[in-house]
Amino acid sequence: MDESATLAMAQKGRDLKAKGIDVISLSLGEPDFKTPKHIQEAAKAAIDSEKYFAYPPVPGYADFREAIAKKYKEENNIECTSANIVVSTGAKQSIANVMMAMINPGDEVIVLSPYWVSYADVIKVVDGIPVFVKGSIEDNFKAKASQIEAAITPKTKMIIYSSPCNPSGEVFSRTEIGAIVEVLERHPNIYVVSDEIYEHINFTNDHVSIGSYPSMKDRVITVNGVAKAFAMTGWRIGYICAPLVIAKACTKIQGQFTSGANSIAQRAAMVAITSDQATTKAMADEYFERRQMVFDLLNQIPGVKTVMPTGAFYFLPEVSSFFGKSTGKWQINNADDLCMYLLEDYHVSLVTGAAFGVPECIRLSYAASRENLKEALKRMAEALAKLK
Ligand code: PMP
Repeated sequence: MDESATLAMAQKGRDLKAKGIDVISLSLGEPDFKTPKHIQEAAKAAIDSEKYFAYPPVPGYADFREAIAKKYKEENNIECTSANIVVSTGAKQSIANVMMAMINPGDEVIVLSPYWVSYADVIKVVDGIPVFVKGSIEDNFKAKASQIEAAITPKTKMIIYSSPCNPSGEVFSRTEIGAIVEVLERHPNIYVVSDEIYEHINFTNDHVSIGSYPSMKDRVITVNGVAKAFAMTGWRIGYICAPLVIAKACTKIQGQFTSGANSIAQRAAMVAITSDQATTKAMADEYFERRQMVFDLLNQIPGVKTVMPTGAFYFLPEVSSFFGKSTGKWQINNADDLCMYLLEDYHVSLVTGAAFGVPECIRLSYAASRENLKEALKRMAEALAKLK
């Protein structure tokens, strides 16, 4: 198992910052907003009530699970009850629970690539085999249904993807999801883990949950959480909607590893998902504006190839034209070298695409202030112009 590349890069940035260096970190998938006030207040009220100091139920508070089931039914068109819901310590734990519950040694898991950094490593930890199916930059980084079908073998247990996608920022359209469903209808034993944590940061205004298709009803695990939509990364609340047998297995595993997720954070998350979504919408609107700004600035840098993303808050520029170039001091052979050069000499922290299955790219998170984004892109342009 590898260390999380995004966390490692963020730590390197913090180390430089601790030395007094002005590092601009665009490496983490972390909103730069504060958790909205009404959610903060809900946490304070939960403490003041003195009702939530004991161990919470392992799969989450009953009323929170009810609220999540209602959300899945109303917003995602997924048929479920609170019995299908398991609340965990972040969507990261939700995904780990599912892999531990479902993957036997030697099972193959098709990972649509570029993929979120932890999928592959969690699959490896449970002795599963990640099988990467890569969407090309020409297809906006989205694997085609035909490619997925070609990768299926008798050992294929599951497919996992995120939409909107971290790291590409792409959103699978209704047609594209429909085509994947058509393939899976021919393969009724394959499960799907659909990671929808960026659901509310979608500039296409059409979020499609594969779990809403009747033919997929009993074999989709829909992952979500409050980290991105409500700027609550540190609160650590994620959840799944899963077929009953899988929800029960995840609860059993979680009961042995960590028990129920933090009680106060659950109460705050409950308010997050049940109250007016205006603050979430305002954050998404700001990401929309930044997206255009970053796109325009990236396009001014010669040698950088950029697709305009349709969701989340990432760009995945293709930078292979710089490989083989040098500054004299720095020889750039790959995206790792490029990120190190940008961090050490220009104090901009990005993540190598190698961590996401796209070694020809680097990932830039635009969950940062406009001022920082402008400065970071200015530094990047200067740094890249020095490579000959
Ligand atoms: N899935 C994706 C696609 C993510 O980008 C992240 C966070 N970077 C997670 C899951 C994990 O979310 P959480 O913070 O709730 O564990």
